Amino acid sequence: MFRLDGKVAAVTGAGSGIGRAIAKTFSSAGARVFVLERDTTAGEETAANIRAKGGMATAIACDVASAESVQTAFGAIDLEASRLDILVNNAGIVHIGTVESTSEADLDRIYAVNVKGLFLCSQAAVPRMKKAGGGAILNLASIASLIGLVDRFAYSMSKGAVLAMTRSIAVDFIGDKIRCNCVCPARVHTPLVDGYLKNTYPGREPELFKQLSEYQPLGRMGTPEEVAALALYLCSDEASFITGQAYPIDGGVLVF
Ligand code: NAP
Repeated sequence: MFRLDGKVAAVTGAGSGIGRAIAKTFSSAGARVFVLERDTTAGEETAANIRAKGGMATAIACDVASAESVQTAFGAIDLEASRLDILVNNAGIVHIGTVESTSEADLDRIYAVNVKGLFLCSQAAVPRMKKAGGGAILNLASIASLIGLVDRFAYSMSKGAVLAMTRSIAVDFIGDKIRCNCVCPARVHTPLVDGYLKNTYPGREPELFKQLSEYQPLGRMGTPEEVAALALYLCSDEASFITGQAYPIDGGVLVF
């Protein structure tokens, strides 16, 4: 069960954190993986790591916020693989602030990566999946798509849009056998979290790490591998009856 043998997967932002874990997990399950990354050194590191374990992976430079860059990246996939079965829209950035403290430039920056990036990559993937006879798109949403998070105005705007785009793509391409779902993690321990603590609370990182961990009723943050396991299920044929859905992976946050 949960094998991806013979499938070709593209994972955006797979040079770090959750995306890297998804790329590795998909490769272990038999997929050929394309690591689409803005940070080419990090992308190449993920791909080299997969190849060292006997998997097939190629890193491709891609800024998901740029239409030209996305077109070039998917063109490079065509040259190497000639099909695409799975797209994971994982690349994302964070911003801290309320509606009052968020600047227009901040909002545009978050929109460009988290919203437009998903649009551009999905727009590139859909015709290729139609050609392949179907496919699976998985989006990284957040618990911010489902509940209000303090001080996360722009981020919540973008993750609410991820949930809405997930449902929209799911209904539009159901006849083409393209499924589209999203996962909604609470806090997951990745470089994104470490960077946030370092920049926002320098010198107080351990105290704030504990606080962020305790926000989840299970008393800890999730791991990238736990999210990758859910991603594998949702992109596998075992999930072929599931589309348009949002899956919390949240350490109990939404239960209370
Ligand atoms: P991460 O460790 O920062 O990894 C994100 C990766 O995406 C980085 O390698 C980053 O590269 C890349 N990226 C950023 N902008 C890009 C762009 N324009 N084009 C291509 N790649 C780009 O983050 P993460 O924690 O794994 O988060 C992954 C996803 O999960 C995000 O969508 C995030 O919102 C979502 N999520 C995370 C959490 C959490 O607690 N960690 C919770 C809920 C949802 P750079 O280093 O160059 O920026």
